[in-house]
This record gives sequence, C-alpha cells and structure tokens, in this order.
Amino acid sequence: MPLMETLVAEPRTSRSLMRALVFHGPNQISLDHVPIPRPGYGEAVIRVTLTTICGTDLHILRGEYPVRSGLVIGHEPVGVIHEIGPGVSGYKTGERVLVGAITPCGQCGFCLSGNWSQCGGPIGGWKFGNTINGAQAEYLLIPNAQANLAKIPDELADEQVVLLSDIASTGFSASESAGVKLGDSVAVFAQGPIGLCATAGARLKGASLIVAVESDTARTQVARKMGADVVLNFKEVDVVDTIQSLTGGRGVDVAIEALGTQATFENALRVIRPGGTLSSLGVYSGKLQVPLEPFAAGLGDHRIVTTLCPGGKERMRRLMQLALHGRIDLRPLLTHTFRLDQITQAYALFGERRDGVIKVAIRP
Ligand SMILES: [Zn+2]
Ligand SMILES: [Zn+2]
Repeated sequence: MPLMETLVAEPRTSRSLMRALVFHGPNQISLDHVPIPRPGYGEAVIRVTLTTICGTDLHILRGEYPVRSGLVIGHEPVGVIHEIGPGVSGYKTGERVLVGAITPCGQCGFCLSGNWSQCGGPIGGWKFGNTINGAQAEYLLIPNAQANLAKIPDELADEQVVLLSDIASTGFSASESAGVKLGDSVAVFAQGPIGLCATAGARLKGASLIVAVESDTARTQVARKMGADVVLNFKEVDVVDTIQSLTGGRGVDVAIEALGTQATFENALRVIRPGGTLSSLGVYSGKLQVPLEPFAAGLGDHRIVTTLCPGGKERMRRLMQLALHGRIDLRPLLTHTFRLDQITQAYALFGERRDGVIKVAIRP
C-alpha cells in the first residue's frame, strides 16, 4: 500500500472494528470489538483465516503467565495479506501466508547470532499475544513483515500448515537442537501436542528406536501414528527401567522433555546414556533441581539443551516443504473445529482436555 493510505485517518465505524479474543485478567476472556490494526513502516496486516489455541494461552488465561489486561491473545496465524505497510516488498494483498508464533526482526544482535527466538532479549522473539496483540482475531498486525510473512504453496490447505507456526516448529526443534543422528535412540516424555510433534521430529531426523511416554490412551494412538515404536504408560510400568532394558542397559542417546515438570525432567536425565543429550522443551515453574546420581555428579558428559520455538519466514518455508512433499501430516492433531464466535467454548474444551482433544482449529 502506498504511504498515503496509512496516513489517512479513517473514522471509526463498524467497518474499522473486528472481533478479537481479549484477555481482561486471570480467568477473564471475552470476544470483543476492537479496532482493525493498520500497518506502519515495515509492518503488514493479515486477515486471519485459521488459528488455534496453545497450552501457553491456557497458562495466560489462568494467570500463570502474566500479560497485560486488554491484550488480544493467540500466536498461531494463517491468513491472507490484507494491507502492506511502507518498506515491505515482494508481497501483494490477497496472498496466503503463514506466520510463525515467533516473529524475529532478523536484524538485532541476537537474530544475527542465530538466536532468532531471543530477538531483542530474553524470549523477545515471542511477541503475538505476549507483548503485542495476537492471532485469535479477524485481523493481525505482523511486525517485521519482511522477515516473517511466509507464502503458502497453493497445494497446501490452511489445516496442513497452521500447526507449523508453533507446536511443530517447537516439537521438531527438540531433535534438531539435540543433534539427533541417524540410528539414535530417542525417548520423548509426554505426548501432548508438542510431545507428539517431538516424536514426529525424531522420526524426521532419522532416529531408530523412538520411545514415547504417555498415559492417555487417545494420545498413545496418535503417538504411534507420529512415529513412536513403543509407548510406555508411566502409570503401569517403571519408565526408567523399561527404557534401560529396551536399550540393552545403555540408555537412549537423546531424551526429550515435553511437559515441564521436575519428575519428567529427572526421568529424562535418568534414561540418557553417558554423553547423551537431554533436550528440554517444557516450561517449568518454581525451581528445577538436577539430581546428582543420574547427572554423574557433573562428570557424565551430558548435554542439556533448551529451545524456544524457531520462527521467521525461512523456518516456516522449510516446514511447509515437509508438508508439501508428504514428509509430515499434522492434520490428525486438529481434532476439533470452532468458529471464532465459539472460541470461549473451544477454550473450555481444550482446557479440560475433553473428547480426546489435541488441538482445536479456530476459523475467524
Ligand atoms: Zn504456543
Ligand atoms: Zn532480532
């Protein structure tokens, strides 16, 4: 859009308002009418065509992760370019785009050092529904649009790409950050949405044996579909002993923690071989302690790595290529669909984990 467009003030009529899910404080969300954003320099606005709800949104709703009152939440957008601000080139209105949950600037010292998710400072790459308005809305302002608008190949439906924005990018990154090698054995603790994607990521990276840990039967079935060879129910077996015997007493090369609790972190540490890697995706609260015996008192050559969802348009392009060429299909994870005006019902279902829900598709 030419610069003139963005400078002309429009009267605030109903046509300049949109519906959006607004956080008003712990356990208070509502679908409100708020102004449709207008793009400034380097920005774009998309009309959201599909989004979803993340476990992190539940933490926000419950007051466990603080964001400001009045913020539109949600961070997983698929949409159509609605308006382009000055300073953004190579895009047209009407083009379908996927935007990562993490929107790095691509220019700061952290980005240029390769730590895109830490753009500008700690966890700074996560902006949508955290520090700026998010995706559970009819329209969404994209910061640093040039670095973050990833065009969607015509062959791919919105449902094939929406989960790439966050849970798939995060889940796959566990094996990438751990440096999983062909033939490695991998254990994945918890098969929630991110854990299921971590299982799929271990398969993509060439793991031989993939052991998933989960007690929910619906999730156990999906875990097998995503690539788990064995699924252990921690309510029925001793997970550490069983993984040790499955690997001939050696331990796994890589253990992925995808829940964020002391117990799963500790078990992940107990099942890795000497010199193995604990790849942590969980979000912990309170204090996390390292037991010294499985950590070999610090002499075990263990690696512990953490990863925040990789974002940016090149990451999204690569993940979409995996979907385009049939290497991944995450549609089985989208178990329910809601319209935006039903989103509070979707939050209730997702939050209470009813009806075998894994992820909900939200259609504005
Ligand atoms: Zn998320
Ligand atoms: Zn940056």
